[in-house]
Amino acid sequence: MTVMEKDQAYVAHTYKRFPLEIVSGRGSVVTDAQGKEYIDLGSGIAVTSFGVSDPVWVSAVENQLHKVQHMSNLYYTAPCADLAEALCTRTGFARVFFSNSGAEANECAVKVARKWAAEHHGPDCSVIVTLEGSFHGRTLTTLAATGQDHFHELFQPLTPGFSHIRAGDLPALEKLCGSGRVAAVMIECIQGEGGVIPLDPAFASALQQFVEARNILLLVDEVQTGNGRTGSLYAYMQYGLKPDVISTAKGLAGGLPLGATLLSPKVSDVLSYGDHGSTFGGNPVACAGALSVLNRLTPELLDDVRRKGEALKQRFSGAPGILSVTGMGLMLGLKTVRPAAEVVADCMGRGVLCLTAKDKVRLLPALNIPDALLEKAADVILDCVKPS
Ligand code: PLP
Repeated sequence: MTVMEKDQAYVAHTYKRFPLEIVSGRGSVVTDAQGKEYIDLGSGIAVTSFGVSDPVWVSAVENQLHKVQHMSNLYYTAPCADLAEALCTRTGFARVFFSNSGAEANECAVKVARKWAAEHHGPDCSVIVTLEGSFHGRTLTTLAATGQDHFHELFQPLTPGFSHIRAGDLPALEKLCGSGRVAAVMIECIQGEGGVIPLDPAFASALQQFVEARNILLLVDEVQTGNGRTGSLYAYMQYGLKPDVISTAKGLAGGLPLGATLLSPKVSDVLSYGDHGSTFGGNPVACAGALSVLNRLTPELLDDVRRKGEALKQRFSGAPGILSVTGMGLMLGLKTVRPAAEVVADCMGRGVLCLTAKDKVRLLPALNIPDALLEKAADVILDCVKPS
């Protein structure tokens, strides 16, 4: 059997894969089983922050592998403590809970919010409000948080206690809060899976004031937007938000499974011994990879992410076949005249890997993608979006 046949036979059919088998890569160039090279503008959906097999990252991970690959959370390990310190120092958050994925990072955020709200507002205060069009994960709780009905249909009953409002609709939030049961609001600064839709800055600051005035928590899902992706360490920083909790994963460990829930001083002591846990959370190899990623997210690198994003925006805005360009830094969405899926398929045929997000072409290249590769890939995209 070929790899594709074996995968089709034995792997659950939850992913509609492209007929493409990637065998290796270096930086932003990946190679398929036939030896054809592709410029990778997807980064494993915002995961390989510094590209594939990046030597700095490989050496950080390899060094740790030779020391100890896993220890239970019954004991201390340096990478876990060092990473938590680095995350807190760079953000002002007070403590971190480590897990393995974005969904788990969000689950932890929800648990923290529910326990905090029960203690401060009473046991009935458990509702988490999220935005329509949001995406927060695939577990039953994070599906309930996800503000897109079609994800919910086949999996009822979901975890209760979630409500959704339209982004910008503060009166709807006000109405929900009337029940006295709203514990927290959870948002993405840019809805990634929802179609690369940035939050309106005016709504973001009104929301900040709103949650402060009512002493409810603000949870920011930075799973996709975090770790340098939008040109700041976390996207909330560009919105001037002061979240009580942020959740992140994807690009944090540069290609290893790691989730992190960052807790502000207000909620840092909410979880106590035994309240939460994860066998693999804070795994030393994943944390060593994450430390190497975080150390490289310097102000210069973040400037460069913004510069590259702006350059791409300029090239794409108003180009034939492109209706709009959204996003920040190296998280961009192109609304195209041609169906996005067709554009992505054509780009793949021409050696450029892009993603879709709803009806858009989505670009999430490695943060250190060389300008020359980015320009070459942009030429291909500009060609493929032209209506025939
Ligand atoms: N939150 C956001 C904003 C995401 O984009 C995703 C994944 O796309 C998730 C949560 C879920 O992350 P994971 O697939 O690592 O569970």
